[in-house]
Amino acid sequence: DAKRAGRSQVRLFDESMDESVRFRQTIEAGLREAIARRELEVVYQPIVARERLDIVGFEALLRWTSAEHGPISPSVFIPIAEESNLIHELGDWVTAEALSECLRWPHQYVSINFSPRQFRRQDFVETLAARVAASGLPPHRVQIEITETAIFDDDLRAAETLQQLRALGFRVALDDFGTGYSSLFNIRNFALDCLKIDKSFIDGLGREVESAAIVNSVTHLARSLGLGVVAEGVETETQNQALRLAGCSHLQGYYFGRPIDADATADLAGQALPADAAARSAGGIVR
Ligand code: C2E
Ligand code: MG
Ligand code: MG
Ligand code: MG
Repeated sequence: DAKRAGRSQVRLFDESMDESVRFRQTIEAGLREAIARRELEVVYQPIVARERLDIVGFEALLRWTSAEHGPISPSVFIPIAEESNLIHELGDWVTAEALSECLRWPHQYVSINFSPRQFRRQDFVETLAARVAASGLPPHRVQIEITETAIFDDDLRAAETLQQLRALGFRVALDDFGTGYSSLFNIRNFALDCLKIDKSFIDGLGREVESAAIVNSVTHLARSLGLGVVAEGVETETQNQALRLAGCSHLQGYYFGRPIDADATADLAGQALPADAAARSAGGIVR
């Protein structure tokens, strides 16, 4: 019986391997066609400054609605794109969209996610700088989001790339901070503008004392290193209060606004800010 169970487990395992390989192939094949078929869209989520609750930037987030399979999450297809060369084509498309949308906004910056493979390309800085220059946007209106995987595999070259980006005037954010191996100690020599504290720590605020302790100390140390701190995934008033107390410079999450389409973003970006911000800080949620 044990033998039979063992064998069937092996078989099940093989089948699920097959299935996951097939799944990846399906996704990859679908993605190859997605741009041409106009199945992709970039949506934008507000990033809010803590003091006045005005929207200082928007993060560009890719959406894919496959004609065959319906909506597919970027956390599913981005890793698959990253393992093939597709990430470059997708990334170029997102960048072009995001830069042209940012031109419609009065002053906010656009924050674009770049995968490690994009960031490590030999021509990354040069190509990005050329695209931004051609768009007419000043580099300070473009923020580059990278994760720690992008900088730690080859940290000397990454440090140089970050220096070049800074010299050109781009902003750079370290995304998902706290989920990997980086500490404030080993990122202190990288030319970064801000850290985005991962949502998993924000989720625990008001529930576990550890999360509050982590968020408080990360924020405190980051600020003493001259880095801004963005809290991502803020969903509740309790979290908002805790983060304001902790001294996070920027906030992002459903509490302030979900990702919205390009036209809605342009409308929101164009609203008169000071009066509006006052209304929001009284009312809470941005629509
Ligand atoms: P990320 O860059 O850390 O983006 C934050 C994710 O959290 C987004 O998920 C956003 O929609 C979600 N989020 C924001 N606020 C809240 C909240 O209050 N509650 C909850 N539950 N979620 C919130 P999304 O759009 O599904 O993207 C997932 C990941 O996929 C991103 O994580 C990023 O790593 C990657 N990604 C998305 N678009 C791109 C892109 O254009 N290029 C690259 N390279 N990666 C992308
Ligand atoms: Mg991001
Ligand atoms: Mg993040
Ligand atoms: Mg994340």
